[in-house]
Amino acid sequence: MASRLVCKSMRLWRGWCAPRATRFSHSGSEDRLETPSAKKLTDIGIRRIFSSEHDIFRESVRKFFQEEVIPHHTEWEKAGEVSREIWEKAGKQGLLGVNIAERHGGIGGDLFSTAVVWEEQAYSNCTGPCFSLHSDIVMPYIANYGSEEQIKRFIPRMAAGKWIGAIAMTEPGAGSDLQGVRTNAKKDGSDWILNGNKVFITNGWMSDVVIVVAVTNREARSPAHGISLFLVEDGMKGFIKGRKLQKMGMKAQDTAELFFEDVRLPASALLGEENKGFYYLMQELPQERLLIAELAISASEFMFEETRNYVKERKAFGKTVAHIQTVQHKLAELKTHICVTRAFVDSCLQLHEKKRLDSATASMAKYWASELQNSVAYDCVQLHGGWGYMWEFPIAKAYVDARVQPIYGGTNEIMKELIARDIVRDK
Ligand SMILES: Cc1cc2nc3c(=O)[nH]c(=O)nc-3n(C[C@H](O)[C@H](O)[C@H](O)COP(=O)(O)OP(=O)(O)OC[C@H]3O[C@@H](n4cnc5c(N)ncnc54)[C@H](O)[C@@H]3O)c2cc1C
Repeated sequence: MASRLVCKSMRLWRGWCAPRATRFSHSGSEDRLETPSAKKLTDIGIRRIFSSEHDIFRESVRKFFQEEVIPHHTEWEKAGEVSREIWEKAGKQGLLGVNIAERHGGIGGDLFSTAVVWEEQAYSNCTGPCFSLHSDIVMPYIANYGSEEQIKRFIPRMAAGKWIGAIAMTEPGAGSDLQGVRTNAKKDGSDWILNGNKVFITNGWMSDVVIVVAVTNREARSPAHGISLFLVEDGMKGFIKGRKLQKMGMKAQDTAELFFEDVRLPASALLGEENKGFYYLMQELPQERLLIAELAISASEFMFEETRNYVKERKAFGKTVAHIQTVQHKLAELKTHICVTRAFVDSCLQLHEKKRLDSATASMAKYWASELQNSVAYDCVQLHGGWGYMWEFPIAKAYVDARVQPIYGGTNEIMKELIARDIVRDK
């Protein structure tokens, strides 16, 4: 396997880089162990979808989370936001915009490389810096639908971690039903005037650029035909950031309210074509759902390993908890469920790398893996006993962080709608 890639990007250091999309769009070696046979579910060097180059990249990403993120997370949880420095450090290390083409100012890595960053963040049990939404939800909209000018303006800054991205779809009165969006933009000469408000926006508080979903044609034959996307920048007059919302979990990740009061936007702020916003959302949502599925199964692998360690140490009735047969059976169930789901999510990653992942399949992955994550979290806390309920134990944080996964990115009820529609549709 070719292994010496030259990293052109000055952002990359420490002698490694993300394997390139063009050269590594294939799977890795067939003789790699799959998760069920690996010593640990989080081992480096396993799974056919990866290659030895991904392993080198993974080692560096793991080190980054161990050294730069974990030591600061408690402090960020108290602040309700992470530091700006961590974004810039991630940018310097080449961890942002990994799967965005180099010609657009991204790193030019393949999908599996960006998945390495998702997985390693999940294995670190630190949800604070929401790199994945920035790199793999927001940046693709700009790269796929942006003008040359927009790509030049935003992508390099975002890849460097200088500018943080967010996407604002949800409103107090419109979540699952995006066709109920009220935020609107009206033409004024060649400008647009934006009014409305958004809620639950990840990275919203720290955002430098937000993709805002707004109604641009109320007369359209359906609401979906009258929605557009706008790039709104921090500091624009009338763009106000509201509260940082207090959440049950993901305490270091900022989630904010955003308000738009007569924000004057130049024509160049329109992303893609007017009234095509809903179509763009439908194109991009499968990747968001795959990302949530990946985070969910990776978090499950992390929780399993935490729990395996704990029960092998903890003593009860003169032996370790791991010696109790019912505990062993619970671990066997957990491992089986996790490995079966991992196989499905890996196959979704392979399909997506080939641009063949359809919406219903991505919805299955999101629904299934996020439900599994929550049941794994429940069982793993139980296996920790009282210590599992204590914040000082990583499993407690993993438990509360899991709860949102079946809710955002489209609730799991909506996922079932999408899966069901595909089942009963006349082909
Ligand atoms: C921490 C966090 C971060 C978020 N980040 C972002 C972000 O960055 N950007 C953004 O735009 N949004 C974000 N969201 C919003 C998230 O996507 C929405 O909360 C989600 O889509 C659900 O919308 P809702 O909260 O309005 O619930 P509702 O739509 O009011 O749903 C309430 C309940 O009704 C059910 N329901 C609704 N419609 C149906 C139906 N047709 N069939 C069956 N059941 C149905 C739902 O499943 C749910 O159980 C975030 C949310 C959270 C909690």
